[in-house]
Amino acid sequence: MPLAGVITQQVRPGHPAIDISCVEGTPVRAAHDGTGSTRWSRDLGWTFTLNAPDGMQTIYAHLQRGGDAGAYSRGDVIGLCGNTGRLTTGAHLHFGSNRPERLAVLAAPIPLAPVEPRFAVPLVVLAPKP
Ligand SMILES: [Zn+2]
Repeated sequence: MPLAGVITQQVRPGHPAIDISCVEGTPVRAAHDGTGSTRWSRDLGWTFTLNAPDGMQTIYAHLQRGGDAGAYSRGDVIGLCGNTGRLTTGAHLHFGSNRPERLAVLAAPIPLAPVEPRFAVPLVVLAPKP
């Protein structure tokens, strides 16, 4: 999922996207590898568009801020969730695609990069309280 949150709208006719509620300023992550850029849309506000090599495109709309043009890997931060544009009534991510049938899979949790062993903290096992 590009960000953790409650899904408030599913894919339906006229809405090729999943809406996910958010706290403004929460980082939004790329759902796949690709090249992307940010543009302004009156209805969708700041919108980041990410193009996969196979022609699939995902969009991340109503952002507070969008990422610079360039190459992105799955899990990279592409912008900050927001409430920009006319077609929004509260902070949320409009996560759309030209292949909306793939959004359910793309919305699955994105694993964060593993922590290098030298940064890992040993787990402390707490004794049960008597
Ligand atoms: Zn939407």
